[in-house]
Amino acid sequence: MSYIAWFEAHAIKHKKLVAKLLECGMDKEVIIEYFDFENMVQHEKGFCPLYADGQKCHDIPSLNCYFCACPNFRFDDKGVKKIDKKTQYSYCEIDSKDGALRVYGEAIHQDCSKCSVPHLKSYVEKNFDLDWRQAMQGCIV
Ligand code: SF4
Repeated sequence: MSYIAWFEAHAIKHKKLVAKLLECGMDKEVIIEYFDFENMVQHEKGFCPLYADGQKCHDIPSLNCYFCACPNFRFDDKGVKKIDKKTQYSYCEIDSKDGALRVYGEAIHQDCSKCSVPHLKSYVEKNFDLDWRQAMQGCIV
């Protein structure tokens, strides 16, 4: 799946869920709590394929799924730039010390598997936007 296909599909899914929570009268604080991994696994099984096995994308105690993916992620399915003869498709805007670029054949992608920044509740609170697409608008290069 291309980055943009995942992005657009997730934007729709996220919007529907936030609309449902708002209809239930939830405010920012409660919505952020709702997106806690443990709650999402129980109540929103279709939101993430990892939920079926209760598996976290990052092994941290309190994983928040509101910012899946990350506002600092940057991508272009046509390629951001060429490095030697390979094409780089993504990178981290803040060059997180826990992120890395990985080579997969002729492609280079940002690897965020060691970075939990956007999944911390404090980060979600600080960067919160009811409109996930708005919060993520910088991701599309
Ligand atoms: S943050 Fe991780 S566990 Fe949560 S929805 Fe995204 S991929 Fe799934």
